[in-house]
Amino acid sequence: MSKVATTVREVKLFIDGKYVESSTRSTFDVTNPATQELIARVHEATKEDVERACQAARRAFEGSWRTMPVSERSKRIRRMAEIMIERREELARLEALDVGKPYSVAYEKEIPRAAHNLKFFADFMEQQGGETYPMDEEYINYTRYEPVGVAALITPWNLPLMLTTWKLGPCLAAGNTAVIKPAEATPLTVSLLGEIAKEAGIPDGVVNVVQGFGKGSAGEYMTADPEVDLISFTGETTTGKAIMKMGADTLKRVSFELGGKAANIVFEDADLDKAIPVSIQAAFLNSGQVCLAGSRILVQRSIFDEFVRRFKQAAEALKVGDPQDEDTNMGPLVSKEHYEKVSSYLAIAAEEQSTLVTGGKRPHLAKHLQAGFYLEPTVYIQEDSKARICQEEIFGPVVTLIPFDTEEEALHIANDTPYGLNGVIWTENLKRAHRVSHKVRAGTIWVNCWFVRDLRAPFGGFKKSGIGREGGHHSLEFFTEAKNICLAL
Ligand code: NAD
Repeated sequence: MSKVATTVREVKLFIDGKYVESSTRSTFDVTNPATQELIARVHEATKEDVERACQAARRAFEGSWRTMPVSERSKRIRRMAEIMIERREELARLEALDVGKPYSVAYEKEIPRAAHNLKFFADFMEQQGGETYPMDEEYINYTRYEPVGVAALITPWNLPLMLTTWKLGPCLAAGNTAVIKPAEATPLTVSLLGEIAKEAGIPDGVVNVVQGFGKGSAGEYMTADPEVDLISFTGETTTGKAIMKMGADTLKRVSFELGGKAANIVFEDADLDKAIPVSIQAAFLNSGQVCLAGSRILVQRSIFDEFVRRFKQAAEALKVGDPQDEDTNMGPLVSKEHYEKVSSYLAIAAEEQSTLVTGGKRPHLAKHLQAGFYLEPTVYIQEDSKARICQEEIFGPVVTLIPFDTEEEALHIANDTPYGLNGVIWTENLKRAHRVSHKVRAGTIWVNCWFVRDLRAPFGGFKKSGIGREGGHHSLEFFTEAKNICLAL
């Protein structure tokens, strides 16, 4: 049995420094996607609860937080990161529990990265300078970067804590206050951020966490709330559009990290000993529920058969199982609704006459996992890059191999979707690596690697994959107002 699934937790809202119930006491259920067992009853924030959270964040913004010396603010944010590391085991277990991701991935990678996001921005803020522009000998201009105000941070279910602290780090470091809403399917780890902030000495009201759904619920209420100055959102492209409309009347500043359909291009001179295991990761990490997933693998025809054979073998070697088991490579999909959406693409792939290489059904699993939302790692071949499985974000363990003959053809296919979050290129030819990197229209290109992140570097999407960039000074620009001061000498 799952090691932590037996307790049913009560998840409350965290407003103005304390846990509180929903004002109507209404709750929604969260289940373990590996077993369908009930794991949490979550208080759903009403409009009034969201207003209270936003007002608490406003009061905290007008209080000591934004004027606190940067070194002091950073110290407390770093303390949050330390507490997260002290609670790493618990956080990793919870992340595995409601997302269904392997515990080992959460423990080894995501929780440390979530903590590092906070530490990185605390350190980075302390190193910031400003611009100065002397005008002859008569005047001097200098710039200050001041916090904007109350930020709504709305995050998806695939990497709950990691993506939330990626926003919370720069938000707090710059002196803003936050109202956070995690995804309804995965509230567990993020629900603890308010208490962790409080323990780290961050004033009440600076970090608030509300729970609920999107439309007609907490997410939508936040995006229209007059106290909210800026919205940092990661999620689906269609949700980004809805949020932009809701925020328009109150002219909120927005930063959007949206969907993707990355091309992973494997040229005939690629080192397949590296390209195949990394492409497997890029396709199936987190059951393929990663915005950066290399879900379209474009392979040059001369090596296509060899690639298919070796990729199939590697996909079939993945261990699908209980997320809480340390040797599991792949868990279930996050929810019934998402399982049904991903599974619908199996029928679409068949209608489109895609060739099934492997997978395409539920795996054989231990008895306690038989109700889980599992799908085998699934690989198709499809010659027509306009097919829906090559165009739409499936966001599951379903990958399509597309053969190509020339570099031009590969580029055409790579750029022929509405998305532009990232791309991956495998070649030993340096000139080609640069040439193709420049021509793929996406915010991040990985050459002979995938998901390697330097947090100073810009991260975000071209086209329908986002608005704005996160990372280093890009995040700080979003979370600050630049002020110029012109002084007569
Ligand atoms: P989603 O858009 O359904 O939900 C994301 C969050 O928005 C949730 O908290 C949800 O409750 C909230 N929400 C939904 N409708 C809303 C509304 N009308 N107003 C306000 N809030 C609303 O996304 P998801 O299904 O949770 O996550 C998967 C998507 O996220 C995929 O498209 C994936 O590519 C994308 N994603 C992008 C990145 C990136 O960095 N670009 C990273 C991770 C995930």
